[in-house]
Amino acid sequence: MAEKSNGATSGTMNIGGRAYTIIDHEYDVVVVGAGGAGLRATFGMAAQGLKTACITKVFPTRSHTVAAQGGISAALGNMGPDDWRWHMYDTVKGSDWLGDQDAIEYMCRDGIPAIIELEHFGVPFSRTPEGKIYQRPFGGMTTEFGKGIAQRTCAAADRTGHAMLHTLYQQSLRNNAEFFVEYFALDLIMDEGVCRGVMAWNLDDGTIHRFRAHRTVLGTGGCGRVYFTATSAHTCTGDGGAMVLRAGLPLQDMEFVQFHPTGIYGAGCLITEGVRGEGGYVTNGNGERFMERYAPSAKDLASRDVVSRSMTIEIREGRGCGPNKDYIELHVEHLDPKVIHERLPGIAETARIFAGVDVTRQPIPILPTCHYNMGGIPANYHCEVMTVKDGDPYAAVPGLMALGEAASVGVHGANRLGSNSLLELVVFGRSAANRTASQLTPGAPHKDLRNAGEEALARLDKLRHATGGTPTAQLRTQMQRTMQNDCAVFRTQQSLDEGCANLDKVFAGKSDIRVKDRSMIWNSDLMETLEFENLILQAQAIIRSAANRHESRGAHAREDYPERDDKNWLKHTAVWVDPETGKTRIDYRPVNLQPMSNDVQSFPPKARVY
Ligand SMILES: Cc1cc2nc3c(=O)[nH]c(=O)nc-3n(C[C@H](O)[C@H](O)[C@H](O)COP(=O)(O)OP(=O)(O)OC[C@H]3O[C@@H](n4cnc5c(N)ncnc54)[C@H](O)[C@@H]3O)c2cc1C
Repeated sequence: MAEKSNGATSGTMNIGGRAYTIIDHEYDVVVVGAGGAGLRATFGMAAQGLKTACITKVFPTRSHTVAAQGGISAALGNMGPDDWRWHMYDTVKGSDWLGDQDAIEYMCRDGIPAIIELEHFGVPFSRTPEGKIYQRPFGGMTTEFGKGIAQRTCAAADRTGHAMLHTLYQQSLRNNAEFFVEYFALDLIMDEGVCRGVMAWNLDDGTIHRFRAHRTVLGTGGCGRVYFTATSAHTCTGDGGAMVLRAGLPLQDMEFVQFHPTGIYGAGCLITEGVRGEGGYVTNGNGERFMERYAPSAKDLASRDVVSRSMTIEIREGRGCGPNKDYIELHVEHLDPKVIHERLPGIAETARIFAGVDVTRQPIPILPTCHYNMGGIPANYHCEVMTVKDGDPYAAVPGLMALGEAASVGVHGANRLGSNSLLELVVFGRSAANRTASQLTPGAPHKDLRNAGEEALARLDKLRHATGGTPTAQLRTQMQRTMQNDCAVFRTQQSLDEGCANLDKVFAGKSDIRVKDRSMIWNSDLMETLEFENLILQAQAIIRSAANRHESRGAHAREDYPERDDKNWLKHTAVWVDPETGKTRIDYRPVNLQPMSNDVQSFPPKARVY
């Protein structure tokens, strides 16, 4: 083993007769992911004296968090009366009562200091005339327990995520966190149920890195790319969730996926609801304004869920647009070009770039688009990962933490309120850092794990030399179309069972996968194949959990079980997926209906005067 300048050592590992260069690192903490969640955790850990590494497959400020425009919620009360209890009430209600109320209380309460801290770190928030953080109204955010409209969403113009990421990255550098940029994390290093670090591939020079750590923190984002169309970045492939599944641990509430009705066909980019507010309308392949049939009074302005489901029914019944009858059209060409120019300039630009459409003359091809994963790696509000073991639904997985969209700390339950996700990132990033700092002694020695990571490398080596007949892209498209057609907004036992059967076929097709490029340097073919492996495990988790839940709750709307069923289904789903066979196993965890403190006693709040 040769000593490297930063304390890392290097050696080789032989897999299948091929030698791989292995570089070993030792840290107190390794964070995977440099989105809002990963960066807030990284800098919090580093600032408290822990030697912290942050691994990311894209440059930190290119993480999907950068795309968040709307803002970040917190009951600051800068633009009118507000109270964290009102925020908590909205979030519990928004979650369709599947949210864990201890975690929700923690988030809504701690959100206030967390945002003030962000302001002090340098996030350039928009301001009110008196110099306070500007706050805008957002759907579902109310005052007085549902009576009025709250202005609760703090914004930095329409670039809130962008502003946050830059500030958090700068703060991480300032506190000497070490970044490993364009490193692809492969798998966790597990040792008798304890997580001891993570294996990663340096995309730039082809070396393999073994990170030993007393805490491994997964902030790897959502898995929106399981679907054919998603508003999230192409990098949102749920890598952390798949690592957890491969470690024999479950994911939680994966059936709950939020859809937005107007994403651009294929590209998935979001077209705001404001378009329909300005008089835009949708038509099917026969040119019919079909929303008149589904929602005679609200028509095109019916709620997101209703429009999404109606669009999907039209397509399923063969009335879609285009050669494959697989999309719907959104019209604004009847509007005065002046209105488009003044009120919808961004939309005109997005449609031009991503659909090649001039909105003053042509309709925009659209599809309901995957927007957010409520489910993920189960964790408590300290971000400590949990499994279900020997009858204990809260069994700890020592050494492992998860946060952000990758995790399910239980704050969103069955549906997420807009602007609560950015809040979740900073509140729980902070929580993970504080918890870790209170438990670890900086520089504590690591256990010797001689051949750790061999399995992860063997998996990479196998895919690198895969000589089958089916390109990864073909399998990925089949998976995405199956999920889009059978497990999106329209769900019945029949559609889900068909989807399960189709997905099993795609899963079986993995044995015939072909990777053309054998190099280790910037091999995007291999990286996309690793990402596909990660996606399909989560596709299985989503569709099997959806087929299993016989009720409608939040974003999980079943045509055949239209009512919420608290008697049988007020519980979280825990799902395991066998990485070899794709077979799933399901268990449950109770929903925590107890808030953390006596400051909140019950909802609705008639029992208590605040
Ligand atoms: C278009 C859009 C608009 C949105 N608007 C809002 C909004 O206004 N308000 C709001 O609250 N929410 C919004 N959301 C949701 C919110 O932005 C996301 O849920 C949140 O940003 C996710 O942050 P994250 O840190 O968990 O993950 P991400 O920002 O997705 O970051 C994931 C990180 O993990 C790294 N990573 C992943 N896999 C690997 C691997 N194998 N190896 C190494 N690194 C890896 C990536 O490099 C990246 O750094 C929006 C989402 C979208 C898609």
